[in-house]
Amino acid sequence: MNAIIRDNPRNQPESDSHGASGSGLLRGDFGRARGRSRIEETAERNFSLAAEHLFLRPDQRQLLRTPFREIKVALPIQMDDGTIAVFVGYRVQHSGARGPGKGGIRFHPEVRDGEIHALAEIMTWKTALADLPFGGAKGGIACDPSLMSTAELERLTRKYVARIHRFMGPYRDIPAPDLNTGPQTMAWILDEFSSRHGYSPACVTSKPIELGGLPGRNTATGYGVGIVLTEHLLATGRAPAGLRVVIQGFGNVGSNAAQFLADCGCTVIAVSDINGGIISRDGRGLPIPDLIRHARATGSVGDFPGCDPIGHQEMLSLDCDVLIPAALEGVLHADNADAVRASLVVEAANMPVTAEADEIFAKNGITVIPDILANSGGVIASYFEWTQNLQQEAWTAQRVSHELRRRLSRTYREVARVASSRGISLRRAAYVIAVERVANAEALRGSSTAQ
Ligand code: NAD
Repeated sequence: MNAIIRDNPRNQPESDSHGASGSGLLRGDFGRARGRSRIEETAERNFSLAAEHLFLRPDQRQLLRTPFREIKVALPIQMDDGTIAVFVGYRVQHSGARGPGKGGIRFHPEVRDGEIHALAEIMTWKTALADLPFGGAKGGIACDPSLMSTAELERLTRKYVARIHRFMGPYRDIPAPDLNTGPQTMAWILDEFSSRHGYSPACVTSKPIELGGLPGRNTATGYGVGIVLTEHLLATGRAPAGLRVVIQGFGNVGSNAAQFLADCGCTVIAVSDINGGIISRDGRGLPIPDLIRHARATGSVGDFPGCDPIGHQEMLSLDCDVLIPAALEGVLHADNADAVRASLVVEAANMPVTAEADEIFAKNGITVIPDILANSGGVIASYFEWTQNLQQEAWTAQRVSHELRRRLSRTYREVARVASSRGISLRRAAYVIAVERVANAEALRGSSTAQ
């Protein structure tokens, strides 16, 4: 039987004695019932694309979709002003059929359990598609890191580990960064976990190199997006040179994808971040290394010389060849999908295309390279980091880059072959391969009858 653990030690009410939720000190939605979000619906629909194709029975579908374990914890920490604030932390371990849980931890005001479920589930399919010995997991803390000091973030991260460490570890569940978390967050997790379990560098990935991190892990997701896109171009007889690319989101994934594609000869004509977008004035493309330096120095792509500002929605409907959503989930939906003019959408973020938008793209002849393929470079590099830690080795950047390209190219070709031989979309093909692998592992383990 799948175990459902709800770890809610303090059973906090929705608002605390300091005031109403939102203005008080309880951050998050402990116990609040909500309708299903877009990304939960998208996760369900993407799974059913494969389930229908594989003729899975209803009981098999239920077994494969139900999370193995859900953890929800109260995280009280002292703020710099001396008050106590209670945040809410989540970790969902969706499947361990093929190996320990693997997935990021995000710090974001919109973190909710439904979204974390959906994101944990797609990690199961992503690791299976890449044929890694991992399952799927995801975690997060509902907080706004832009309003917190480094010391507050460190206390919050350590409290999170203190509350969930029994369910983590190199052979249980291995977190990595996601929105608003990075190598420093992973270093705090490593330190807090190791102080309880002994030195355990493989308990977390995307650590700083000095603590057992992997050279090239930080750029792997964005470069991986570029590798998968160039494989697709090769397979469809197109060249990267001169291809007009628009990228939404200029953080880790978006900026590294931009750099990789610019190096391949693509013309990145517009990019955006949370503050808005910019478009190259002369149409010759943005000088990506300069733009990355500017974004690092100023915290935003805005005001970059030689560009015009452009709104969030206008960005998505620009005349271009490739649109790469690399920011958040659900940004391309029923209300804006018809306006997309790119012929190819590459899902660098997780689930940026909703189920309805996917149908509209199919109707309009727009190809979508699905997230579980397009952004899998990050988890593949995390797998390299985990293996180097377990074997006490140190991989070189050259080895990482070579192995990343080899694995991503192999996976792309496998997905493309299944898509073309069965006459199905790249998304459905990717899910068919992944879901079938997990279903087989579950069946071999006999998990449906195990105690
Ligand atoms: P990040 O925090 O480094 O960057 C996010 C970027 O998106 C920032 O530039 C931010 O300003 C921008 N953004 C946020 N809201 C926006 C909006 N409404 N419109 C336009 N831009 C907006 O995060 P990241 O690591 O680059 O991750 C980006 C996405 O890729 C996330 O969905 C994440 O889950 C997914 N992802 C990341 C990795 C990884 O290894 N980092 C791996 C797989 C998937």
